[in-house]
Amino acid sequence: MNKQELLRKLPKVDEVLKDQRLFVFMGETSRDVIVEAIREAISSLRTKLLNEEENISHITNYDDLMDNIIALLVEKNQKSLRRTINATGVTLHTNLGRAKLSKSACESVMDIASSFSTLEYDVKKGARGSRHDHVEKLIIKITGAEAAMVVNNNAAATMLCLSSMAFGKEVIVSRGELVEIGGSFRIPEIMEQSGAILREVGTTNKTKAQDYKRAVNIEATGALLKVHTSNYRIVGFTEEASLEELVALGREVSLPVIYDMGSGLMINLEKYGVEEPTVIDALKTGIDVILFSGDKLLGGPQGGIIAGKKKYIDAMKKHPLARILRVDKMTLAAMEATFREYLDMEKAIKEIPVLEMLTRTSEELYNNGLAMKEAITEKTAFYNIAITEVEERVGGGSAPTSVLRGYALAIDSISIAAEKIERALRSYKIPIITRIYKNKVYIDMRTITQEERLIIIEALKEISEKYSMEKKNA
Ligand SMILES: *Cc1c(COP(=O)(O)O)cnc(C)c1O
Repeated sequence: MNKQELLRKLPKVDEVLKDQRLFVFMGETSRDVIVEAIREAISSLRTKLLNEEENISHITNYDDLMDNIIALLVEKNQKSLRRTINATGVTLHTNLGRAKLSKSACESVMDIASSFSTLEYDVKKGARGSRHDHVEKLIIKITGAEAAMVVNNNAAATMLCLSSMAFGKEVIVSRGELVEIGGSFRIPEIMEQSGAILREVGTTNKTKAQDYKRAVNIEATGALLKVHTSNYRIVGFTEEASLEELVALGREVSLPVIYDMGSGLMINLEKYGVEEPTVIDALKTGIDVILFSGDKLLGGPQGGIIAGKKKYIDAMKKHPLARILRVDKMTLAAMEATFREYLDMEKAIKEIPVLEMLTRTSEELYNNGLAMKEAITEKTAFYNIAITEVEERVGGGSAPTSVLRGYALAIDSISIAAEKIERALRSYKIPIITRIYKNKVYIDMRTITQEERLIIIEALKEISEKYSMEKKNA
């Protein structure tokens, strides 16, 4: 057949609609969407025919067209924001949504999202309440701060804090701490947007308390700012002013000291290899205001927590930006539930997924790997699997120099390339995100749950069946 004949022979939408294979979609998918998928598949087939010169007759295979239509329908029925399985070993993976919430935080969100709530209502008084109250008392209790509030994220917290405390005034920052966090958060730029004026002191590698002191100008200076270098470290010939020194200097010159901490770690995790300052230690120095993220090591929803002296926080609550940066009820529900976990620190380590993952022992990770390897081998002989010790990162702009030791399954196959396995896992109905190293697919044990291990085992089995069949047919 020549091209013209093939083009004329392309099936009509109405004919395809009668195909039994589409019946399963008829209930949940509207007819319009099915027709759209058929049109798109036929149209791309037509384009292909027009562009190809050789081997054109196999292009018009009707079963292939049906496969494409079904694939399009599956895609159209999927939400864009979907669950994934993070088998990368990076606990706080910003692209995969950072912190996974605790069970009780998820339940709280469901509960509050699906009902009316006490968001701004005081049931005792039968009158209007404040949305800040739900988390403020808890944060005070757990951290020892005088006051606290929650905004949209740590970037928002920085903006509000600078604007409220130092609008039109100079804020003194070390040259070694002019941080950029992924996604266009840069201290100098946020500073400019907030209306505060950046006053850099010291050098990239060394800044002393004296450098801050020399830059203080009674008329011009609004605050001293310390920024935690949460996604890099300067090593070698270095010096920085400690939080204690800055707090002492702040007192001496009567200026507030602000600390942008980034991660919001509540429990010291040094013995697990995670080196980050804790919120409680920072507040103990007597600092005026600290800022940290909700969805990094705190293990809660996206949010920016501002904690510290009441007079500053009260002013921030009344600032016009507070309304712009305020969080919604679902965030507050998750935030309250997350902080509640910290009322019992032992329990928090078990219940908050970020902490649970970071504190898994080598033995536990190895045993999980071994069980998983055996389960896969039982189902298919398609893969070579080795349990390998790996180095892992906390991720998400936290503990940049901390390396955790864990275990991963390193998988390859004589039948298909590692890239193909990786892609097939990524295309699975629940996308499974892995990494490739030296031509092997790595499935890291740290960031997956028992339930997810079973899903991965099933996915690997399905992939092996698909590729074994293709090989037979070829
Ligand atoms: C991560 C981080 C931020 C930004 O926090 P978001 O919650 O992502 O907006 C700001 N400052 C520091 C030091 C950080 O580590």
